[in-house]
Amino acid sequence: MDYQVIRKPKPDESRVKPRLPDPGDPHDAAIWETVQKELDWLPGGFLNKAYECIDRHALGPNQGKKALVWEGKNGEVETYTFAELKRESDKFANVLNGLGVEKGDRVFMLMERVPELYVAFFGGLKVGAVVGPLFSAFGPEPVKDRLLDSGAKILVTQPGLRRRIAEVIPDLQQLRHVIVANTASRDPSPLAEGDLSYEALMSEASSEWEIVETTMYDHSVMHYTSGTTGKPKGAVHCHHAIVQQYATGKWVLDLHEDDIYWCTADPGWVTGTSYGILAPWSNGVTQVIYEGGFRASAWYEVIEKHGVTVWYTAPTAIRMLMKAGTDVPKRHDLSSLRHILSVGEPLNPEAIMWGLPVFQQAIHDNWWQTETGAILIANYPAMDVRPGSMGKPIPGVEAAILDDDYVRLPVGTEGHLAIRPGWPSMFRTYWRDSERYNSRFRKGWYITGDRARVDQDGYYWFVGREDDVINTAGHLVGPFEVESVLIGHPAVAEAGVIGKPDPIAMEVVKAFVALKDGFEPSQKLRSEIMGFARERMAAGIAPREIEFLPSLPKTRSGKIMRRLLKARELGLPEGDTSTLEED
Ligand code: AMP
Repeated sequence: MDYQVIRKPKPDESRVKPRLPDPGDPHDAAIWETVQKELDWLPGGFLNKAYECIDRHALGPNQGKKALVWEGKNGEVETYTFAELKRESDKFANVLNGLGVEKGDRVFMLMERVPELYVAFFGGLKVGAVVGPLFSAFGPEPVKDRLLDSGAKILVTQPGLRRRIAEVIPDLQQLRHVIVANTASRDPSPLAEGDLSYEALMSEASSEWEIVETTMYDHSVMHYTSGTTGKPKGAVHCHHAIVQQYATGKWVLDLHEDDIYWCTADPGWVTGTSYGILAPWSNGVTQVIYEGGFRASAWYEVIEKHGVTVWYTAPTAIRMLMKAGTDVPKRHDLSSLRHILSVGEPLNPEAIMWGLPVFQQAIHDNWWQTETGAILIANYPAMDVRPGSMGKPIPGVEAAILDDDYVRLPVGTEGHLAIRPGWPSMFRTYWRDSERYNSRFRKGWYITGDRARVDQDGYYWFVGREDDVINTAGHLVGPFEVESVLIGHPAVAEAGVIGKPDPIAMEVVKAFVALKDGFEPSQKLRSEIMGFARERMAAGIAPREIEFLPSLPKTRSGKIMRRLLKARELGLPEGDTSTLEED
């Protein structure tokens, strides 16, 4: 079904000359230059994300402005000005320095969305460390994989989360210190032996700190992302990414001085970092951080109570709001909302159409990935919205649709979505895996791993992913990661994991399991394996469904054919099965 274009008021042509971004146009280079000029580089041409987000506001007229309005799970509200965030993060930088953290060391956080997470994040950047926020719902296995791979020296966490991952801590040879913040969780439990108290360290720390000199090419933030094979890879970003996070904060989020901004993503996923920390604060905007989880009425309440003007959320959340019905939003005053955006999965046109009367405006879809560090394709506030399209590339970014030889395809043809390398927030490597990093670039293009098409007016339309990676509620899950956990269960001989379509979460994780000799399929065993996976991973990424099979289809070289499992699940043609192992 074709949806009507949602038209936007046109600018006064006599005053504004509309112009589409043209990467070949030197004016676009000038845009980047302007943005770089707007940022406040450190003396000597150094650049540090913490300085751009916090210190430059704390040292100027915005020092008393609210940076963070935090609402806890139980409705408690705390506010922090830019000056207060500067002081706290300077203290934490001193704490890290005192513990021997040096430029380039990895400092990871496993925390809920509490103020201490943001303080630790900036404190880490201020000592020149590479910071890595982890998703707080993760169980021991994903945490262990990420801390082992990154060789993190410091883990900042909270008592309950510390208990959840206790069994893997002794395996982390490179981890020097675990810092536990008790206040944040209002949990006065005594510390485990050898752990350090965040509060005790901070009470002794000086608030005088000079940011370690970092260049635009120094590593700053790491996020693990899933591929089809192997464990998740750490996509590494540099301080330079702030240029684009700042610019897209202006152009796509449309952030202005007096906005109250709310990003619903968790910093354990890249949206919650690039747009839940870096873009709003580099723009000096007040942001609301809500620690609680999803509940339609609670979310509307956050918007009403704090007067949110710009709201960045995700399709699954919008579909859950739709499910809760239109009576719930009617009980709230949502008139403060000026601009709404969504990312992470395809935003179905029905969601936009549903949102029109409820929010009195269109929801603006945009596209990017962990590797891209910031938004690359977007529906700008001023653009007519074509429901179902992700929008157009931002100025300075060249996108294309390529064939299997990486040659540009004509308008309207589906192919590989590719980006010309060189945008400022581009990832600079996968941690200790330059081979895989290099494999993402072909014939002068970065190959995104998504399939898409572009129409004659330059709007991009998402078609699907090229690989077996599952997108559940906007979170990418690598099948290999789930399979590895499943085969750790004593009854499981082999496991194959696919994404099964779901009306709300887009996909849910479904596992096919073959049992070891001596075990019989049963509902009890199914629940036991599900519980086993949930305990080790996170409820959202553990299998929602398990089906027992006598054996799994494999290639002759022994690889589980997930494609075939998926085709069978969906009742689709099985395609080429010539490499299928004979039974
Ligand atoms: P992540 O690296 O976890 O941020 O996930 C990035 C992936 O999510 C992309 O490669 C897409 O497959 C998907 N994605 C992100 N934004 C959109 C969007 N607006 N429409 C469709 N898929 C999206």
